[in-house]
Amino acid sequence: MTFSWTAHRFAGGALALDVANSVILRADPARRTDRFAVSRQLDEFPEAARQFCAERALFGDVAPPEPEDRAGFLQLREAIDRYFRWKAGGSEPPGSLLADLLEAIASALRRAPEGSLEAAAAQSALRLLTEAESARLKICGHCGWLFLDRSRNRSRAWCDMAVCGNRNKASRHYRRKKESL
Ligand SMILES: [Zn+2]
Repeated sequence: MTFSWTAHRFAGGALALDVANSVILRADPARRTDRFAVSRQLDEFPEAARQFCAERALFGDVAPPEPEDRAGFLQLREAIDRYFRWKAGGSEPPGSLLADLLEAIASALRRAPEGSLEAAAAQSALRLLTEAESARLKICGHCGWLFLDRSRNRSRAWCDMAVCGNRNKASRHYRRKKESL
């Protein structure tokens, strides 16, 4: 099956979270998939982000990282995920995680050219650091992605109701069917 960056893959609500969510099933070593491990998929991400990312009005025509900047960009992605995943759990992350994230942001801003995906992701992480209330930062109950719950009553359990909400309903339905057999 050919992979494509669909709107669903930008359910995070912030560029930094969409970048972190490029790893699918992060906590499951057997099924974990890194979409950025394929160069073409990383190269196509910025264009899709311009179309689907909730923060698209805040960044322009961003360029994918140059080959020599990719390792640094992935370090930034991992620091974003570790920090905000902890925070989504409801408590303040330890200072060491904050330090890792701030260092990754600083080195991305120092290294990456203005108008690059890496710089835009670093800026997005900074906005999240100052704005995100942990009550809005959530982990999807189905796929484990990070997302910002912008609903008024903060009642979202899924990154994307149309995909993960329905899959979860389907699997509950399947379990009920099995139990009733
Ligand atoms: Zn999900």
